[in-house]
Amino acid sequence: MHLPDATPRDLIAENEALRAHMAYLVEQAERNHDIMCRHQAFDLEIVGASTFQELVGTIFRLLPVISELDAVTLALLDADADIYTVMHKLGVDFEPLADLLFVEHAVELGFQHIDGAPPRPRLGSFDTAQHRSMFPHAGGRLASVARVPLLRNKRLIGSLNLGSRDPQRFTASMATDFIEHMASIIAICLENVISNEMLKYIGLTDPLTGVYNRRYIDRRLLEEIARARRQEYAVSCMFIDVDFFKLVNDKVGHQAGDEVLREVATRIKTELRLSDALARYGGEEFVVLLVDANLPAAALVAERIRSSVAGTPVDLADGVLLDVSVSIGVAALEDVDREHPIESVAQQLVGQADVALYQAKESGRNRVVTAS
Ligand code: GH3
Ligand code: MG
Ligand code: MG
Repeated sequence: MHLPDATPRDLIAENEALRAHMAYLVEQAERNHDIMCRHQAFDLEIVGASTFQELVGTIFRLLPVISELDAVTLALLDADADIYTVMHKLGVDFEPLADLLFVEHAVELGFQHIDGAPPRPRLGSFDTAQHRSMFPHAGGRLASVARVPLLRNKRLIGSLNLGSRDPQRFTASMATDFIEHMASIIAICLENVISNEMLKYIGLTDPLTGVYNRRYIDRRLLEEIARARRQEYAVSCMFIDVDFFKLVNDKVGHQAGDEVLREVATRIKTELRLSDALARYGGEEFVVLLVDANLPAAALVAERIRSSVAGTPVDLADGVLLDVSVSIGVAALEDVDREHPIESVAQQLVGQADVALYQAKESGRNRVVTAS
């Protein structure tokens, strides 16, 4: 091509400028591709998380790295503390999840609701008074933040909070589709994992008393025996049965009978350690599994339970005071039996506690008998 006005020098300069621009564009494209790949890997990782602990832990571990952020926190709207309570009961360890926050009311999340439309992300400078509660551990270090609503079917379930030391990282005029997309995936994953954990919880607990059910304790017993074999510690088991419970129902009615069961469960629980497990095994029967407790230690706990139930009458809702007692059979697995399958060892342990309970009933009730 003939360019009459351009000297060769101009052409060279122009060419160099074009090359430089080209290199810049290629670099940007590579960078964007890299960011996209990292985010796709992040999406796959969180979609694959099967528990609440794993999901939230993964978000906190990966998101600050792949998005080059100085703070990432999550706030969950948890009006009656149901989510927190269930996760706690399922054994979620909140210590490594210090950036997980629970709020009781939607207003605490700090979004504006205009004409009933779902809230929009809020980006801008970090403001201590406004943002401290969402960044309780990193507040002082941040210069700009993005607060992104977590929405499910237009319903606000929480917020994803991103913080940076770079004041230009989040500005009010920035496009938000990318972080909104990320927040929508996080919201779906959170909702899924929370409902799965809720279902798991419902499947393992007794609706009347809130303690574990038989399915849970049968499984836990196998786990504890396996662990006791590896680590050589004692496992004990007690069978607790309310005395003359048929008479209780006859005297105060079935509904007040239910109240008695709840109160007995509470009194048993009060005497146990965090590592012990209590289940309602059937009608008015409870099973307790004590970890790292030999027969004398378990018998001591059983005696405390017996005396706590018999010591104070149950104060029923209609004002009636009712004397209640329990009989308890205790058995322990002290010599680690490695020859027999775990299932038969478990059956034997429960069987021994059951026999001891029968003896407690036979010898007058309101007493503890330990298996010989
Ligand atoms: P014992 O001292 O020998 O244990 O006498 P008991 O009357 O407690 O023994 P039994 O096992 O014959 O009776 C248990 C009663 O518990 C029978 C049943 O009506 C009652 N029961 C079982 N499940 C429930 C429940 O969920 N709520 C209430 N209120 N009663 C229940
Ligand atoms: Mg019974
Ligand atoms: Mg009974």
